[in-house]
Amino acid sequence: MKQHNVIILGGGMVGAAAALALSQLGLKVALIETRPVKREFDTNEPYSLRISAIQRSSENLLKSLGVWDAITARRITPFIDMRIQDWQGFATQLSAHDLHEPNLGHLVENDVIAAAIWDSLIEHPNCTLYIAQTKQAAQDGQGNWRLNLDNGTELHSPLLIGADGAHSQVRQWMGIEQDINDYQQHCIVGNVRTEKPHQQACWQHYSEQGIFALLPLSSHTCSIAWYVTPEEAPLHCASNTNEQAEAITYASAGLLGRLTPISEFVSFPLIRRQSQRYAQANALLIGDAAHTVHPQAGQGVNLGLLDIIALRETFSYALAHGQPIHDLRVLSRIERARKHDATLVQRGMEGLNWLFSNQPINNRLRTISKPFAQNPLASSLLANVALHGRLTGLLE
Ligand SMILES: Cc1cc2nc3c(=O)[nH]c(=O)nc-3n(C[C@H](O)[C@H](O)[C@H](O)COP(=O)(O)OP(=O)(O)OC[C@H]3O[C@@H](n4cnc5c(N)ncnc54)[C@H](O)[C@@H]3O)c2cc1C
Repeated sequence: MKQHNVIILGGGMVGAAAALALSQLGLKVALIETRPVKREFDTNEPYSLRISAIQRSSENLLKSLGVWDAITARRITPFIDMRIQDWQGFATQLSAHDLHEPNLGHLVENDVIAAAIWDSLIEHPNCTLYIAQTKQAAQDGQGNWRLNLDNGTELHSPLLIGADGAHSQVRQWMGIEQDINDYQQHCIVGNVRTEKPHQQACWQHYSEQGIFALLPLSSHTCSIAWYVTPEEAPLHCASNTNEQAEAITYASAGLLGRLTPISEFVSFPLIRRQSQRYAQANALLIGDAAHTVHPQAGQGVNLGLLDIIALRETFSYALAHGQPIHDLRVLSRIERARKHDATLVQRGMEGLNWLFSNQPINNRLRTISKPFAQNPLASSLLANVALHGRLTGLLE
């Protein structure tokens, strides 16, 4: 039987970063993950398929955790421009140069982020890692958790944090419902060689068929995010390389010339999920376990990492003032700090999607919104979202 201050279920990017942040606060943390994280890395390896746009707020968090150097030592790509256009000639651009910033963020493989954090966790004396399945979870009369793992270990803690992704087991143990919106859209991801240079820009093309994004990696190499119907997704993923090349070159409107696949294509169903509560006495949800967003503006993991900033600040204050960190009053502060932001980002993504969809009324709206897009307030709002993932920061 092992006693910890906190048990975290799920050691993806968000759960691992939470475990490191709380270990650094002096808490005894148990991190349970079912899949071992691949920590070895060779720069000659092809890019993995899961790549995230990491914004400044996340970079700053990862720096404060002491893992940013380990991430940059593996492989990252800064992007300096975002270029958005639609099939009717509307085009707008956000440039790091105009904001007096070195870049607008970095493209990083999800595995690279997780591996860099795990390297630090393995060495941290306050954190114990378990690669295991949880066979049973139960709470006693005081709310303390007991988890039985399939390797025979029994873990006890007054606080359980769910960082176990969109299908969170912890959320189910807490009995918390979700508000769900199935977009009836799939996102195909894969890596491609581009004929023209990507100019360190993220490109997004909106057409009547959907959205197509190109995210810069190494020279003449991009990751694609291609939004299609649930019926089209398996067909595109299964078609041969030549057919895929034709289809993606067309879907990208030839933005970067001919595109040639250099990896398999895989697709993800897109669903907005908002847990009705993030906090309960003795339990908390963070990352995708709490909220998922449409990925078109690359906000998902950035929102999860913002959860950790709120978690660390709240626990740091509670510990300094002798407040139990498993108390609902403490955990509710994190929910209040984060749920509002997550909702705003979720709805913002839906608004963007709606605005650029092909209904005639939206054609008019887009025309009206052209001057707005060139307005300094609009660009600073966009910059705030791009760099910090927050709509509310402007008002602070
Ligand atoms: C196509 C696509 C593109 C995206 N692009 C971006 C982007 O550019 N920028 C961005 O910010 N976000 C992006 N996202 C969103 C981002 O990938 C997620 O928000 C992020 O992965 C969430 O991290 P997480 O750690 O909360 O959850 P996950 O990544 O889902 O990790 C959960 C972890 O918990 C583990 N786990 C699950 N159940 C258990 C259990 N019972 N016991 C133990 N462990 C368990 C899993 O093995 C996993 O390691 C994208 C998403 C998609 C689908």
